[in-house]
Amino acid sequence: MHAADQTESALTEETLDPDDWDGTSELAHQVIEDAIAYLRDVRDRPAWQDMPDDIRAAYTEPLPHGPTPLRNVYRQVSEQLMPYPMGNVHPRFWSWYMGSSNFTGALGDFLAAILGSNLGGGNHAAAAMDQQVVEWCKQMLGFPASASGTLESGGSMANIVGLTVARNVMAGIDVREEGMAALPRPLRFYGSEQLHSCHRKAVEALGLGNRALRRIPTDPALRMDIDALRQAIRHDRINGFKPACIIATAGTVNSGAIDDLDAIADLAAEEGLWLHVDGCIGALIAIAPINRGLVAGIERADSIALDPHKLLHAPFEVGCALVRDSGAHHGAFAVTPEYLESTPRGLASAVWLHEYGMQTTRGFRALKVWMALKQHGIEKFGRLIDQNIAQALYLTTLIETEPELELAAPNSINIVCFRYRPVPWTGDLKALNTEIMLRLQEAGTAVLSDTTIHGEHCLRVAITNHRTRRDDLDLLVREVLRLGAIILAE
Ligand SMILES: *Cc1c(COP(=O)(O)O)cnc(C)c1O
Repeated sequence: MHAADQTESALTEETLDPDDWDGTSELAHQVIEDAIAYLRDVRDRPAWQDMPDDIRAAYTEPLPHGPTPLRNVYRQVSEQLMPYPMGNVHPRFWSWYMGSSNFTGALGDFLAAILGSNLGGGNHAAAAMDQQVVEWCKQMLGFPASASGTLESGGSMANIVGLTVARNVMAGIDVREEGMAALPRPLRFYGSEQLHSCHRKAVEALGLGNRALRRIPTDPALRMDIDALRQAIRHDRINGFKPACIIATAGTVNSGAIDDLDAIADLAAEEGLWLHVDGCIGALIAIAPINRGLVAGIERADSIALDPHKLLHAPFEVGCALVRDSGAHHGAFAVTPEYLESTPRGLASAVWLHEYGMQTTRGFRALKVWMALKQHGIEKFGRLIDQNIAQALYLTTLIETEPELELAAPNSINIVCFRYRPVPWTGDLKALNTEIMLRLQEAGTAVLSDTTIHGEHCLRVAITNHRTRRDDLDLLVREVLRLGAIILAE
């Protein structure tokens, strides 16, 4: 640009702020009204529906060079986006393992964006709140006040944070400076064969390689076999490896099985290994009055990953990593370039939160969690967790009383695995059950997922949903039986 042009543009300075605040306010009120109605009536809409071709085509429209009035932009969103969600806010969405969000959390995300703060650190209220939510996570799990923690994008990143600290502490060399090639003996990590797939990505990213992550067999209840774990550690020591870290799972993604945390903590202590608990599913059961005993021992971990966007139903994304040794945690990530040095007073006088994880710029994830925790109190969140576990037991009972349904895994927490198995019939059970699952989705009735347990395909219902009621589960069983019979007749 020529200097003259630049001067010219300076005379017509622009901003992204609205020209018409009153009109914007009116539209924003409409957005809020629509959003409230959307959640209020969610039960009356399909749990999921596929996008028609014209809607799908709308997502290939070209890059907009000029303006569109916000009212029209919003109309497009309300017509083309809002009717076609993933569906996890619906009372009959039970796929994978997701929270079902909440309105207060949505207001939190809105206000966080209004502030637009960067939670890389600094001396401001949002950063103080970020640390407070980490404190609350420690308190919910009975973790010591001296521990450190960080809010992350989710459980996968929270696990990576914990495992990075584990690797660096257990390496016995300055792995940040020297790298993995300088290790005298390769490290070995251990988890059950039911381990979440994010741990594979983690050990790959950490330079350990997938083979360094030993998958330990499980018992009939799908919990890590402690004797097999002890043997694997011994075997590795004899063969020149350095056993470093046990990853216990508090709530496996397949069936919800909870490893014996106390026994594993004992073994980790005996063997001098780091204990990381993947508590993305189950750690928060620690606040559930009836079931909290299931995760007893979790507070003995060296590091824990938990997921407020699952059992606390925070809008995506928010995970949390906790590390008992705060010095080791800071030591694994802290790097202070001059442009991020602290000052004695002012905005740069506080803790740099980016020194506890991989991100530099961090979003303000705490507000949505903080507001919902304050509004409802953790006792209510605890009761909701117990409620989901009771609903899973209820569904288990329904399945057990139906001769054509079969439980595929022992009931543990809020995940139920089962299959439709008509008798006598010897066809392809996987194809039959997959077809039932897809028809349930396509009818908008319910969204389930599927998996393999003990080598056999099954349907999987994960009730992480504060909107689910028992009659939704009655409906599910009725529909599975009805669809199964229809498919067989075809
Ligand atoms: C969900 C989950 C993860 C991954 O967490 P994200 O929040 O999806 O990144 C890890 N481990 C277990 C057991 C999980 O259920």
